[in-house]
Formats: sequence, C-alpha cells, structure tokens
Amino acid sequence: RKMDQTPHVALLPSPGMGHLIPLVESAKQLVHHHHISSTLIIPTTGPPPQSQISVLESLPENINHVFLPPVDLPENLTDVASQIFATMSLCIPSLRDTLKLLTSMNRLVALFVDPFGLDAFDVAEELLDKMFTCEYKDLPEPLKLPGCVPVHGMDLPDPVHDRSHVAYKKLLENVSHITSSEGIIINSYLDLEEGAIKALQVEEPGKPPIYPIGPLIQTGSSDGSDRLDCLKWLDDQPSQSVLFVSFGSGGTLSHDQINELALGLEMSGQKFLWVARSPSDKSNAAFFDAHGRTDPLGFLPKGFLERTEGQGLVVLSWAPQIEVLRHGSTGGFLIHCGWNSTLESVVHGVSLIAWPLYAEQKMNAVMLNEGLNVALRPKANEVGIVEREEIARVVKELMKGEEGEKVRGKMKNLQDAAGKALNKDGSSAKSLSELAFRWKN
Ligand code: UDP
Repeated sequence: RKMDQTPHVALLPSPGMGHLIPLVESAKQLVHHHHISSTLIIPTTGPPPQSQISVLESLPENINHVFLPPVDLPENLTDVASQIFATMSLCIPSLRDTLKLLTSMNRLVALFVDPFGLDAFDVAEELLDKMFTCEYKDLPEPLKLPGCVPVHGMDLPDPVHDRSHVAYKKLLENVSHITSSEGIIINSYLDLEEGAIKALQVEEPGKPPIYPIGPLIQTGSSDGSDRLDCLKWLDDQPSQSVLFVSFGSGGTLSHDQINELALGLEMSGQKFLWVARSPSDKSNAAFFDAHGRTDPLGFLPKGFLERTEGQGLVVLSWAPQIEVLRHGSTGGFLIHCGWNSTLESVVHGVSLIAWPLYAEQKMNAVMLNEGLNVALRPKANEVGIVEREEIARVVKELMKGEEGEKVRGKMKNLQDAAGKALNKDGSSAKSLSELAFRWKN
C-alpha cells in the first residue's frame, strides 16, 4: 500500500476505562479539528471487556484500534497499580511490532501515552529514524532541517550513511539524550549559523536553551619541526598570494587524488603551501597519528617538487596552521572543512576552497559554499576524483577571479561579525555570561 501522507498519531492507553476514554476523546478532537488520523493501541491481559469494545467500535473512520496480544501477568501482583505497570512493560515487544507496521503505512508523527506508559519512550526513540525507510543518501530530495541550507543525504555526517551500523545506532541514542540536558553550549556564533541558531532558540517545552559562545579557536602557538621553515618561506611571499592546502589532523587522500592535486596546483600557477601526507584509500587514515609520520615525499608526482620550486612549498604531515592563517601572505585555504579549521579561517578572514573528506565535513562544506558563500567547491568526477583541470580552475578563481573576490568580501563580513560576537557586549560573550550567571547563582 502507498504511504498515506496524513499525519497519524498512535495512542497507547493503559488498562482501565478511565485511561481509555480521555485518549479516545483526544483522538476525536485531533481528527475533527485538525485532520490528524490515529490508531489506539490497546494492551490486554485477556479478552477485552464489552465496555471497551463498544467504545472502540463506535469510533469514526480515521480512528483505528488494535488490541495487543494478552500479556501473562505474574501471579504475585495483587494491587492494580503494579498490574497496570506490569502490563505496560510486558506489552513492549508487541507494541514495537505494531508501531513498525504503522510506520510502514502511515506518516506516524507521535506516540501519545499516559503516565503508566512511559516504558514506550524507548520504542518511540527506536522509531525516530523510521521517518525515512531508505538510506539517507538515496533520498530524492535534499533534507530541509530547520534554519539550515537544504542538504543532500549524501552530504550528511558519516555515521548516518549506514543505518544498520553501530555508529548510527549510537548517534541516535546520543541525540535522544540531548533533550534531557540543561543546556547546549555550541562553538559557533549567530552570523555563522543564523538560521540554525534561531531555530534552536525558539522556546518549546522540553527543549534545552542553547548557548553559542564561539568562535573559540586555539590560542598560543603550536610547534613543529617545519614551523620556522614554512613561516619563513611565507615571509618572502607577496601579500595574500599563497593558498594554504591542508586536510586537518587526520585527512588523507588516495594516490590518484594526490597526483591530481599536485598537478592541479602546479597548473594553477598560484603560490601554495601544502601540508601533504602519504596516500591512503581511507580518507581519515592519519586521524590518530598526524604527527607520527616521517615518510619522505616520494609519493608526489615525478619532478613535481623541482618544477614548483619558487611557486610552492610542501611540508610533510603537519604545519602550524594558526600561524599560517594569521600570516599576511596567506590569501586562501583549501580546507577539509573540519570545524576548528573552519572557525580558524573565519577568525582570520581567509577565504576557502571546500574539500570535505569525512565526519560532518560535507555538511560544513554545504553551509560554507551554498549558505554563506565564503567557499568555492570543486566538483569531483564520476569516480569521486577531483581532476587537475578542475583544481587549477577553482584555485585560480579563488585567488584571482571575480567569484574569489565575492567570497573574500563575504568572508571579511563574517570575520568582522566573529570579532563583534566575542566583544564585551557581543552575542557570544553574552551567552557565556548567562551561563556563568546560572552557575554562580
Ligand atoms: N592543525 C594544525 N596543523 C596541521 C593540521 C591541523 O595545527 O597541519 C590543527 C588545526 O589548526 C585545527 C586542528 O588541528 O585546530 C584540526 O581540527 P579540525 O576540527 O579542523 O579537523 P580534524 O583534524 O578534527 O579533522
């Protein structure tokens, strides 16, 4: 059967006419006034009493009912309250089956329970992700999350891509706990994620307050063996002439992609400072081991280093990113869209080429490119490789083109807004004060 798009509510009354009637009346109100259809799911301990049957059989169309199979109550329960509680927990497995069936046929939007039915919360949470039955990457339309730029399923964070995976289950579980927190502190600020922050700030029952206190980026300087060399090299370059190329602490590229990137940078004719890592087919191969690599640069295309001498500098594995971004010679950043790197770019007003690899980086790329227009985004070919011509085109565009000019302007605004947010009366400073005030009082 084709899915019915009318919003549908499941109601789970606990045993007793006094519990059934108010839920039945709620269902009638919903259908009469709001065209919301419903199903009453009735737990039982034996054949349903005639009084119940008459109420249920007199219901209008669009209010369905199902009886769950009778549960076996333990003999030792003599008081009614314990019997009701036991019925409600023993019916959970059949409730789960019934809800699954309901979600396959209706647009189930809520499970309505009475105070004896709270065990059912767990089942409702399991079904939260059942709004879509396919994998997110196969969704025909981009997802419209409140306040966010529409995002394609394939750009959602990694753990979401395989719904049978343990990481996805863990993610769902974690997300369901968020609402029980006293507040949510986010490393962001209003101008960076205005739509999403405003959507989160709309007060609703059970929704924790949010505190955007960012952008918080590392202060103090990092050190590394290449520090002096690459910064000294930057000192000798013209103002805003260098594209910084780095994929965060863990990002790695395949052999073919490194090849294309090298040749694309060369072809662009633009200056570059590239933090390169040896190839891997896993995009986050260096995640736990960013500093530890000492392999030579032999994986670069033959003659590349010689040909690009004077145009670019390649450092192995790690660079003092903050100092590079702060440096006056840096004019762009080919970024993997990690959140820290994103904030660091914004704080230093460095415009971007978005090249997301893993985790939530693709979502960040959509936001930076389509939402804020502070990044250009190169296109990959049908096997997922960004080819040298495309790289050269985007690099030239960012550093010298009209689009690049626009992106730089937008980034400058975002940089100014970041400064303001953190100023004494800025939005992020205020959020932090509110938090501190709550804790002190
Ligand atoms: N970083 C750095 N040098 C490098 C690579 C990364 O200093 O060569 C720092 C970067 O400045 C940022 C952090 O490591 O503060 C990376 O965090 P991000 O959230 O951007 O990405 P992740 O590494 O978690 O993917």
